[in-house]
Amino acid sequence: MSAPTPLIAGNWKMNGTAESLAQASAVAAAAPAAGVRVALCPPATLLASMSRALAGGQVMIGAQDCHPEPSGAFTGDISAEMLADAGASLVILGHSERRAGHGEDDAAVASKVQAALRAGLEPIICVGETRQEREAGQALAVVTGQVRGSLPAALAGKAFTVAYEPVWAIGTGLTPTLEDIVEVHQAIRATLRDMFGEGGGAPAILYGGSVKPGNAAEILALPEVGGALVGGASLKAEDFLAIVAGSPKA
Ligand code: PEP
Repeated sequence: MSAPTPLIAGNWKMNGTAESLAQASAVAAAAPAAGVRVALCPPATLLASMSRALAGGQVMIGAQDCHPEPSGAFTGDISAEMLADAGASLVILGHSERRAGHGEDDAAVASKVQAALRAGLEPIICVGETRQEREAGQALAVVTGQVRGSLPAALAGKAFTVAYEPVWAIGTGLTPTLEDIVEVHQAIRATLRDMFGEGGGAPAILYGGSVKPGNAAEILALPEVGGALVGGASLKAEDFLAIVAGSPKA
């Protein structure tokens, strides 16, 4: 099976107001037309306006979470169908800030993945170990366990992406060694093949955690690294585009 087209996705988290759309437009103006997929995941408040601003271009729009149900009495929540209606084609699910801050376990993430599939959104499913888990030698067991628990069988044959994001590397400036990144990505690939057979070779496996213009190219060139999920460095178009430029093209 040929390597998946790399994906570089920017997670704006709880950052950005209408004036930030200028950064998105700058990304869209300079993003490569082929060989790499580029996505921006703004807060829900900007999904519709960003999707209008970038309409007809190459940059895809993603959301950062969704509720499992399509509609109903869930004050403050947003369904996958609503995200698609606002212009999203991707959704980040199971980010460690949701797992830790909102008590989302693997089963909750899996139900959100089902919702994304129902609404026609491509899920980006995040997994990653804490510092204590890595220091205890449990990183591979934790990450592959999260993959098994968070990815429902319904993903077979569907477009999806897994993002390996060590919790201790997010927003800290710390990154694993290149060898450690490869080891975890290979373990995730083996797990995907075990779960989905031949189809487990299709999804891109992203690395996330303090990716910057200065370290992107060496990380993105590693075996089984199929792109990046970028937090802080995605807020400035110049930095995000420098990371995109570091991606090997499909
Ligand atoms: C993230 O939160 O998905 C992330 C990778 O953040 P950062 O790039 O800021 O470490």
